[in-house]
Amino acid sequence: MALKGKIVPEPVDIGQIAVPPFAQLPDAATLFESRAERLAALAPGHALEPYLRFLTAIARAQHGAVGQLPAGTLPGKDHIAFCHARELPVLDRLAWKRDASFVAGARAIATELTGTAMPEPAAQALAAFAGRDDASLEALADRVLREEHQDGEVAEVLFAGAALELHFACMAALLDPADLAPVEPRSLCPVCGSLAIASVVEAAHGRQGARFLCCSLCQTRWNYTRIQCAHCVSTKGIAYQNIEGGSKAVRAETCNECRTYTKILYLEEDADIDPVADDLASLPLDILVSEAGWARACPSFYLMPDGDDGDLPPLSSAG
Ligand SMILES: [Zn+2]
Ligand SMILES: [Zn+2]
Repeated sequence: MALKGKIVPEPVDIGQIAVPPFAQLPDAATLFESRAERLAALAPGHALEPYLRFLTAIARAQHGAVGQLPAGTLPGKDHIAFCHARELPVLDRLAWKRDASFVAGARAIATELTGTAMPEPAAQALAAFAGRDDASLEALADRVLREEHQDGEVAEVLFAGAALELHFACMAALLDPADLAPVEPRSLCPVCGSLAIASVVEAAHGRQGARFLCCSLCQTRWNYTRIQCAHCVSTKGIAYQNIEGGSKAVRAETCNECRTYTKILYLEEDADIDPVADDLASLPLDILVSEAGWARACPSFYLMPDGDDGDLPPLSSAG
């Protein structure tokens, strides 16, 4: 009997990535602009609308500053080989000597934000930040990176953090992906050694279901086991929490080994997700998870630790 039809081989998609790339470096030209657009889209009608609009202005200022920076100076291949051999980050946030582009970026952000509507405490902090000399800006940045900032400069942390994000993202963007290798522990960014602010689960063809941790400082993303604590690397005691009836795109991955949580974001549910924007806009989830006994694994420059009640916007009276 003759069969109708025929079988044909499926075309082989040579663009498909069977194994996801180890890391995705940030694109400085679009990173902060995309974040600003995401924040602006999340703001209308949000319980934290004034705060999200203020963060939008900061991301726009970061984007505006990108084109004004002198070219950063990358480490040599010897340094990169040294780091790889010891499973160390290539631009360790605590050891890397920032070049003049950091201060230039900090000043550009302050200038870009001049004239932006903001609450009086933020305006005062911005004036103090802009008034610092170069050495004082560098010293503040060191304290912020070490989480050793003083009580009187808490309101400046978000401006210093924005400048540090800008500097490290622009440096990371200059690297070659081949310059990156996993560091120990695997939960730390291979570029700068920071913890992840959140993770994303990819939806794109070829990397669907792959999970990437998103650096809280340089904005690099690196591939990571799907069910594993983003803080202590435990694979035991992991659970996922979200708000009943809330968005399925944002969950808290909780770990009972270290009693911390990190947000996990699903691009399949929402393709426009930005790790920083969506982390901050899902603050109600932080509050519930904190009340249930887990602490935030990675601090945010844009949140102020508030003891047992979780973290709060530093300018919650904004607007
Ligand atoms: Zn990093
Ligand atoms: Zn853990």
